[in-house]
Amino acid sequence: MADLLVVSDAGLYCPAGDFWIDPWRSVPRAVITHAHADHARSGCDRYLCAAPGKLVMRSRLGGTVPIDTLRYGESTTFNGVTVSLHPAGHVLGSAQVRVEHGGQVWVVSGDYKTAPDPTCAPFEPVRCDVFITESTFGLPIYRWPAPETIAAEIDAWWRANQAEGKTSVLLAYALGKAQRLAAMVDPSIGPIHGHGAVMKLVRAYRDSGVRLPPIDEVPARAKRVGQGRALVIAPPSVAGSGWLRVFGEVAVAQASGWMTVRGIRRRRGFGTGFVLSDHADFPGLVSAVEATGARRVLVTHGSSESFARFLRGRGLEADVLATRFTGEQPDRDDAGDPSDDTLGADGEHETEESVPDDGAAVDSALRGEQP
Ligand SMILES: [Zn+2]
Repeated sequence: MADLLVVSDAGLYCPAGDFWIDPWRSVPRAVITHAHADHARSGCDRYLCAAPGKLVMRSRLGGTVPIDTLRYGESTTFNGVTVSLHPAGHVLGSAQVRVEHGGQVWVVSGDYKTAPDPTCAPFEPVRCDVFITESTFGLPIYRWPAPETIAAEIDAWWRANQAEGKTSVLLAYALGKAQRLAAMVDPSIGPIHGHGAVMKLVRAYRDSGVRLPPIDEVPARAKRVGQGRALVIAPPSVAGSGWLRVFGEVAVAQASGWMTVRGIRRRRGFGTGFVLSDHADFPGLVSAVEATGARRVLVTHGSSESFARFLRGRGLEADVLATRFTGEQPDRDDAGDPSDDTLGADGEHETEESVPDDGAAVDSALRGEQP
């Protein structure tokens, strides 16, 4: 039986239904798993995404290009191929794409996490014959602490910085992580400020019905914003930039799954790193694969070779999916060091949690360095 989804020049393609999933080139019809820049590219004629993510998609794509939506679990058909979208738990509106045709069911996970997140619907396993999974953190060293543990650590760090009169600057991706952090921390500790790129998405989240604590934009050319008491959430690109000067003395930390790796933490030069990811950790990936009941698994992103080998060891038919995202090292054109986030004020060109470019640190992670 022919494969329901194949890799084409423009990305993952369904020949029977004539549509693409997260294409990297302009195509007539794009089904989008979520609005991060490496999955939702502009230039397509027509988009389909999960209804809760429509406003976030619109804020990323801009303009008036048609964005069709499906509620989670609702289905539509393209040329007799049934397509439905199911929560991926990654960011607001993130979806797994279920494709059914000729008695076969394939599910494309997109990016996903199994940990709880107050700002989006939780990951829902979908039974299928073939599961295409990401493996950004597909090595056994990646095991996330409980989010409430991380929230308590961040609150304690914020309070300690306040006691020293320092503004706490927390670096996080503008779409998803920033809003999740705002919803996790204790807003009674002090004021929360957001970088312009963060605020654009905060507005899209609020307009989509997500409850967030009060967050203020950072006024330009102000002095000692927050009086050393505030928590500022900003994209990693502001690290070391003049933008931080308005806060006076600062303490800077990053929230990322890569903070697991000591070498990466050290190289960033931050005193503090919080292990918080919007991707599944290794046990999360394994449990997600198991819950699908799929006999065949195609692995993409990050540690795909290692993770596919691990799954074969468990008796599954598992291979690396040969997309431009494949491999242990980044070959995504916006990949690289997670702190090298070229996010502009418009929120574009965001580097999400792609594989960092710290060769040595990643090598040590691959050799099993225990954090
Ligand atoms: Zn993503």
